[in-house]
Amino acid sequence: MGRHIYVHNPFCVRKCPYCDFYSITDRSYAEKYYKAAAVEARFWADYGKRYDSSSDDGPDTVYFGGGTPSCVPEGLVCALLETVVSSFGIGSDAEITLEVNPASFSIEKGKAYKKSGFNRLSMGIQSLDDDVLKTLGRLHDSKGALIALDAAFDSGFTNVSADFITGVPGQTVDGIIAGLRTIVDKGIRHVSTYSLMIEEGTPFFAKYKDNIEELVPPETERAMYHAVRGFLAGKGIMPYEISNSAAPGLESRHNTAYWDGRDYYAIGAGAHGFLNSVRFGHYDDVGSYIDSLDFLTEANVDALLGHAGETADPVEGLLYCEERLSLEDRMREYPFLKLRTSKGIDISEFKERFGSDFGDVYKDVLQKNINKGYLKAEGQRIFLTESGLDFANLVMEDFL
Ligand code: SF4
Repeated sequence: MGRHIYVHNPFCVRKCPYCDFYSITDRSYAEKYYKAAAVEARFWADYGKRYDSSSDDGPDTVYFGGGTPSCVPEGLVCALLETVVSSFGIGSDAEITLEVNPASFSIEKGKAYKKSGFNRLSMGIQSLDDDVLKTLGRLHDSKGALIALDAAFDSGFTNVSADFITGVPGQTVDGIIAGLRTIVDKGIRHVSTYSLMIEEGTPFFAKYKDNIEELVPPETERAMYHAVRGFLAGKGIMPYEISNSAAPGLESRHNTAYWDGRDYYAIGAGAHGFLNSVRFGHYDDVGSYIDSLDFLTEANVDALLGHAGETADPVEGLLYCEERLSLEDRMREYPFLKLRTSKGIDISEFKERFGSDFGDVYKDVLQKNINKGYLKAEGQRIFLTESGLDFANLVMEDFL
């Protein structure tokens, strides 16, 4: 596998009422922020490779997520990508994705993104039902989403993914499928569908915590989930992960690296990375991020990521350690990550990575879940069955 680099854009035009990702609406920081992110990118390109075990072969991936990267001037985004590409020496076969929002995307922006090196867009369409979009507090309506989608293809992108949300109050299975049919007819070949989660601290939490009867019942949400997967599969857009479906060859290589337990860099306030068996995060604070880059030194990163000492020291105002994984931790995490994917657990790969037989280590858990009909073993692979998908979290937690 090549290098995998995540870059966070923490700006949004407005905060959606269900969202608990780190983002701010004050875009006056954008210019300083993007300059700071370029400094961070150059640092990791120079120094991070000593901690990156994924860089031996295979294509690189770069993912600009958010927030809403398309809501800041495109020149900032393109200049940062150019810094990332030149300082890391990103290969020409890399997958380079940009998240965009229909409300802030245009054909001019698309052309600029394409020219600077992005070759994949992920568009947050969420729904083509105007009532659902209104409930979600999105800035676009269905017409705006379709105009943005046309602009994405017309600006030269052929690899465009669409995000959809299921389980929204007032949403119906027929409505979701109608929306998916429209985007598939327009040429979408990768779809990510996420169930609406009511996260603590969001306006949706305050609104629905005492009114759960207004939410979509779990059985309806599961019906939506299976209808989406079935419909897309019928169009040749095959489920390859719990929330993702793609035409063969268009699976997200960047996200696949996460599910494969690979190392990845993280750049920007709120971004999370994984290097040298350490999960680390950037503090959720744009101001502190801009002001603290002087602390991004080799000695401080060694204290965070190095294994010489027992403690992982934070880098002031910038980075902190979320967890440091032992080989045993990584072995436990392997089925947790792999069961998300349709290929599932590869028992020969497990043996290669950890030197143990999967069947010996997880004998009881495996048998229990096979007996329940949640897991299936076929050759070297173990994966979730259709009914297992409805209990995926419980099955995965069983392995932890
Ligand atoms: S646009 Fe995306 S990141 Fe921004 S608030 Fe809405 S859901 Fe969150």
